[in-house]
Amino acid sequence: MRFALLGSGSEGNALLVETAEVRLLVDCGFGLAETEARLARLGVALEQIDAILVTHEHGDHSGGVARAAAKSGAAIYLTHGTLASLPGRATATAQTHVIDSHAPFALRDLWVKPFPVPHDAREPVQFVFEAANGRLGLLTDVGALTPHIEAMLSGCNAIVLECNHDVDLLRDGPYPASLKARVAGRTGHLDNAAAAALLQRIDSSRLRCLVAAHLSTTNNRPALARQALASALKCAPEWIAVADQNQGLGWRDAG
Ligand SMILES: [Zn+2]
Ligand SMILES: [Zn+2]
Repeated sequence: MRFALLGSGSEGNALLVETAEVRLLVDCGFGLAETEARLARLGVALEQIDAILVTHEHGDHSGGVARAAAKSGAAIYLTHGTLASLPGRATATAQTHVIDSHAPFALRDLWVKPFPVPHDAREPVQFVFEAANGRLGLLTDVGALTPHIEAMLSGCNAIVLECNHDVDLLRDGPYPASLKARVAGRTGHLDNAAAAALLQRIDSSRLRCLVAAHLSTTNNRPALARQALASALKCAPEWIAVADQNQGLGWRDAG
């Protein structure tokens, strides 16, 4: 199993996961031409995508899903709450599959394990992916950690982990007070220190790849995210990858 990111941040998100038998996107927050251009950078055509999983209805995750699915013929997987919250229920077609936020399901040789997260959306989930040769965890758009989240991410070989903001940069930054409260709240976004605390609480003994993701361009810096995660894992900051809004992240092995 390997993975890559088309882009990561509040302007658009998409994670590409590939095994021997299946190729899927988690979220698609980019327009059609942009999605195709970003896939091409990774050597993939949109028509090669078998499925699109949607974590929640926010536009930076769902904005491009309907068009990408229509053009590629990919099946869409999302919770009932996410489906009900999408504008115009644009994705409620024959290729739409409603998932239970606690029920694992198989896509050919890949196990998909959803889990619910606290975030200001109707029924948001994140995912762990298990293939014969690895376990990949995804956690972004999460305002607070729960024991269930920690259990799901324990033992992963690779994790894509939200480092949305640095608490000091957010506090002293230009956002209006209401937006600061939303971002920092229990249903907002994970800050660098909280992401680092998660790593200290889970079993990270098999972790071979860690990607900091969903960084705010206003309220964070890649060096601060790297520093926080590296001190939790006692590794060199350079070992930690950072997913970029424009460049995404090239292929990495998840096993
Ligand atoms: Zn987001
Ligand atoms: Zn969100």
